[in-house]
Amino acid sequence: AGRLQDKICVVTAAGQGIGRASALAMQAEGAQVIATDINSRTLGELAEQGIETRHLNVRDSVAVQRLAAELPRTDVLFNCAGFVANGSILDCSDEDWAFSMDVNVSSMFRMCKAFLPGMIAKGGGSIVNMASAVSSIIAAPDRFVYGVTKAGVIGLTKAIAADFATQGIRCNAICPGTVDSPSLEERLRATGDYDKARAAFIARQPMGRLALPEEIAHLVVYLASDESAFTTGHAHVIDGGWTNV
Ligand code: NAD
Repeated sequence: AGRLQDKICVVTAAGQGIGRASALAMQAEGAQVIATDINSRTLGELAEQGIETRHLNVRDSVAVQRLAAELPRTDVLFNCAGFVANGSILDCSDEDWAFSMDVNVSSMFRMCKAFLPGMIAKGGGSIVNMASAVSSIIAAPDRFVYGVTKAGVIGLTKAIAADFATQGIRCNAICPGTVDSPSLEERLRATGDYDKARAAFIARQPMGRLALPEEIAHLVVYLASDESAFTTGHAHVIDGGWTNV
């Protein structure tokens, strides 16, 4: 049997990057994965690999509640959706602030609130929320609102863990350093000097390389599975040594 045998696992932003790698890793461990995203093309690729898919915009409260009602037996919720905004506080408009807060934090409020009653009724569940090393742990240049939102994810995670620990609910956050994902590639190209930008990201990670999405997926599988039964409310850092030195 797999490490997630027959567990029902819902993943947001599963179309590419860490979400995709995690959905595939969960499936390989025997889970029944429901992969969600707003990108029908990338969801189609997952469907071809035998994964159940649903269109889900995590900004849409009604759609979130509808999905939770459809999947009341969910065991694992991996909230992976998030957006990386560039710039300092002076570059951040009211609209930029509201957008990042909504996609990165309010989405997790919606998802957790919608799925928790089913998990409680079932007697337990594991929620994994995507934060980042850039959060309350460390700051990075030009990641103002991003860092604010990811610190918020850690606070949200701890609050849920505290309130539901006695009801079998575990809620953990994961805090990666820089991961080689499709949106990172876009951000590197957008700088105008791809090689220099990539070298700068690599330089800040003591291991001298970026993480692969599959490496983050290993941590997601562990936190989703019963192997991690004694950990809740923590921000699990996985950063190639970045924030340790
Ligand atoms: P990515 O940014 O390449 O892909 C993001 C996915 O989210 C896409 O499939 C996109 O369609 C989907 N998406 C966007 N808006 C959505 C919405 N409103 N509803 C549902 N889905 C939506 O993937 P990534 O770089 O692996 O990042 C995934 C998560 O990991 C994010 O929360 C990000 O902040 C976090 N993270 C990434 C890194 C990194 O270096 N890549 C590091 C730390 C944390």
